[in-house]
Amino acid sequence: MIPDKASYRLANVRLHASLTSGLAAAFDSDGFALADISVADGKISSIASHGKSKLPADAIDLAGRIVLPCFVDCHTHIDKGHIWPRKPNPDGTFMGALNATGADRAARWSAEDVARRMDFSLRSAYAHGTKAVRTHLDSVPPQEEISWPVFETMRERWRGRIDLQAACLLGIEGVRDKKWFEKLAKRVAAAKGVLGVVTYMAPDLEELLDQVFAQAIKHGLDLDFHADETDDVAAISLKKIAEASLWNGFEGNILVGHCCSLARQPDLEVLDTLDKVAKAGLAIVSLPMCNLYLQDRRNNETTPRWRGVTLLHEMKARGIKAAVASDNTRDPFHAYGDLDMLEVYRMATRILHFDHPVGDWPRAVAATPAEVMRLDGAGVLVAGGSADFIVFKGRSWTELLSRPESDRIVVRDGRAIERQLPDYAELDELMVG
Ligand SMILES: [Zn+2]
Repeated sequence: MIPDKASYRLANVRLHASLTSGLAAAFDSDGFALADISVADGKISSIASHGKSKLPADAIDLAGRIVLPCFVDCHTHIDKGHIWPRKPNPDGTFMGALNATGADRAARWSAEDVARRMDFSLRSAYAHGTKAVRTHLDSVPPQEEISWPVFETMRERWRGRIDLQAACLLGIEGVRDKKWFEKLAKRVAAAKGVLGVVTYMAPDLEELLDQVFAQAIKHGLDLDFHADETDDVAAISLKKIAEASLWNGFEGNILVGHCCSLARQPDLEVLDTLDKVAKAGLAIVSLPMCNLYLQDRRNNETTPRWRGVTLLHEMKARGIKAAVASDNTRDPFHAYGDLDMLEVYRMATRILHFDHPVGDWPRAVAATPAEVMRLDGAGVLVAGGSADFIVFKGRSWTELLSRPESDRIVVRDGRAIERQLPDYAELDELMVG
């Protein structure tokens, strides 16, 4: 369907207003308009409203199929991915996940083990149509010395196919060891990474956050937090991060993930937090699949009663950048998942109500995370930009989101890629013992 040549024209494709730049067309109430896309030498040379210009005889008519830019997945853990067969979560709880993963890391995460699982994850993401991934890397000693070099190798190996970024991951209490944390920040800076920590209500949280911001400023690093991944209403570290950003005068990008407890707090508390988050310019990423799996799981005799996700609609209403992402895949934090951002968007639509109207929610899996990750030109279709897009079968949201779209076509630099999902059996030998 996509010709294997340097230049061609796709006619009658359905583009979304929120993910297309420079298309003068009448978009329908779902945000779609029919268009023609010209591709030349790996770039999009033009995007025009369908029917406005004369098409060449060899133009390919896509009959109204949806075309979206390649996805950007801004919150993953590909160092943990796919350990489930050898280390399942014993009871599906957050603590169960933390303990199981910690034990597996200490026992099994050699450079080879991490590299092979990472590569498996990246092949899946690539086949599903993702072009950029940010992963967190467990960075508690001695793992940081193993995983960061693996990340650097993997980033090189995948350059041109997946733009790979990494953020360090450790509990905020790890920052108390100032000397070690400074060393870690330097290592992260050397790898052009992002400084990340998990925040919770430690008694000295404010002081620890100041140290995190001081290191980020000193080394010119962006920040990425896991915050308040709990239903505990007393968990207000999102607000503490916003306050710390303001009083430290931080100018880099800050992405905060999870923020689950916000959805459980009284309205006045929520308003105060959101005002500060907006003022500080924080971006938020919700991880709907992982939250659904871990949150509100008490024991196997109760049914979960809340979705676990944070207040994305209220955030967007305040102009706060909101993204959704994969988070964990087939590890104790989430038993399922395959780094398929269409699955994430489908689940987000159901869990978070990304509909009535759809509005510009599609940005949450493409343009918005691209901005947060400073990826110029990613996540949007624009004349002059890379011809990196996905051609779906669906011609409407209900068609697109009702089937897995396993037969989608992924185009990179103007050419349809071979979409080969790795075989699980490849990892079998890492799972024994
Ligand atoms: Zn995470």
